[in-house]
Amino acid sequence: MIKFLDLQKVTAKYADEIHEAVNRVVDSGWYLQGRENERFEADYSRYIGTKHTVGCANGLDALVWIFRAYVEMGVMKPGDEVIVPANTYIASILAITENGLKPVLVEPRLDTYQIDDSLVEAAVTPRTRAVLIVHLYGQCAYTDRIGEICRKHGLKLVEDNAQAHGCLFKGRKTGSLGDAAGHSFYPGKNLGAFGDAGAVTTDDDRLAAVVRAVANYGSTKKYVFKYCGRNSRLDEIQAAVLDVKLRHLDEDVALRKEVARYYIEHIVNPAVVTPKVEDWDAHVFHIFTVRCAERDRLQRYLTENGVQTIIHYPIPPHKQECYKEWNSLSFPVTERIHDEELSLPMSPVMTREEVEKVVEIINKF
Ligand SMILES: *Cc1c(COP(=O)(O)O)cnc(C)c1O
Repeated sequence: MIKFLDLQKVTAKYADEIHEAVNRVVDSGWYLQGRENERFEADYSRYIGTKHTVGCANGLDALVWIFRAYVEMGVMKPGDEVIVPANTYIASILAITENGLKPVLVEPRLDTYQIDDSLVEAAVTPRTRAVLIVHLYGQCAYTDRIGEICRKHGLKLVEDNAQAHGCLFKGRKTGSLGDAAGHSFYPGKNLGAFGDAGAVTTDDDRLAAVVRAVANYGSTKKYVFKYCGRNSRLDEIQAAVLDVKLRHLDEDVALRKEVARYYIEHIVNPAVVTPKVEDWDAHVFHIFTVRCAERDRLQRYLTENGVQTIIHYPIPPHKQECYKEWNSLSFPVTERIHDEELSLPMSPVMTREEVEKVVEIINKF
């Protein structure tokens, strides 16, 4: 079977360096808030191009802490609105509602799957405080137009960079394009830990300090609690692993692009639509999507032929039970994407033979 993602193989590639890093932490006797966090935060800041990185427990928390910090700073208050794409992973929306803020869903473009920037300004109201863009599937969602709208209306621009480590917009990394960004290092992400992990990047000193505090019980100084925070810290062992994998991220992204390029050039079945790539620097192919009107039949066919695929995602946020109040809303583009999307095997460890095989099978569908 051709696996969707062979994590064992991904890890095996850098096994020696990873074992060395893990053993170093195990032997050190120091497992939280130590040198490994310091080193990874400094290296990740340098990589992304921001003044600060604050490690935390996972990607959802990273986004939760950004909005929580804005609430603590008085920049936002419960009931304020945040514009967000309707076709994102649930975590982007949960981070907004967990802080008592109101998500305002905006449709994506069908060709790129990214938030449709021509619809953003119409969604701005006097209560809008931020736009949360999501670099979905690893493709940059930022556009100059979105930047202009945020400046014009005094809105914070927050990035969900969970799927796009290493992605560029005109030479700048996603995660450094707005006021703050949330990153996930879930094992399957392009930069993945050995468990849950996340981080916030920002140039804003105050925001970084508040995020660091709320993710550590609300503490600004040992045993002094300024906020009612939570325990949401990055483990030393995860930081050490991430620092190793960060050194190889660009090389892994380049390998993902080779797979994507082969798929795009060789999938010629008119029933299967490959993604539109306007700028190869602006896509890191966390997920390689295709669209097909007969998606479920295509998925069954691929399974029968030994190709593992995943749907990202089967049910859009506004149709989920946790957001019952939106269930009757209509977002036709979003719903169509959720009905037609299928994710093909994609990773830096796929062999050329595997990629060719997937293409050959799809072209016979
Ligand atoms: C993975 C993901 C998250 C959440 O990250 P976790 O580390 O799993 O909490 C948030 N947003 C998007 C778009 C994601 O893909």
